[in-house]
Amino acid sequence: MTKVNDIFGSEIEFDCMGCDIADHKLIPPGGYVYEDELINVAADPEIPIVGFMILGIKKHVKSMNYLTRDERIHIMDILNTTIEKMKNANICDEVLLIQEEKSSHFHIWIVPMHEWMNDFNKNVRNLKEIIDYSKRNFDEKTKDDLLNAIELLKEEFKKTSK
Ligand SMILES: [Zn+2]
Repeated sequence: MTKVNDIFGSEIEFDCMGCDIADHKLIPPGGYVYEDELINVAADPEIPIVGFMILGIKKHVKSMNYLTRDERIHIMDILNTTIEKMKNANICDEVLLIQEEKSSHFHIWIVPMHEWMNDFNKNVRNLKEIIDYSKRNFDEKTKDDLLNAIELLKEEFKKTSK
């Protein structure tokens, strides 16, 4: 069991964060932005960057190498849709994508690039500093903006399902 503090300062515990989010044992901040039989998209429980989304999958596999071709195509399609919707909701103009196979449960980080990240050259090399900065500077206003961004994305996703 791993224990960490979530972005709101509450302690959360999980065996595998990816499985627990997929199984609704761990509800991500603001709830699920998108969900289907394979994929979920939601805010990261630990990193308080406004609009920062994680694309997770239900299957506990570490690499997309273990997925079927149809699953990979579906993941890419929902990834693309999520990025489009982040832009449509004016959360960001650009994103940074990260997928680390060292994690035991496949997921993709979709990091929106914000103005304040210019100080860090919006560079993947500075991602740790960007994350640390977001944690140090998390306040009530950022919390409101973060939850608001999640609601905007939920609305954006509703538009396509109609
Ligand atoms: Zn898992």
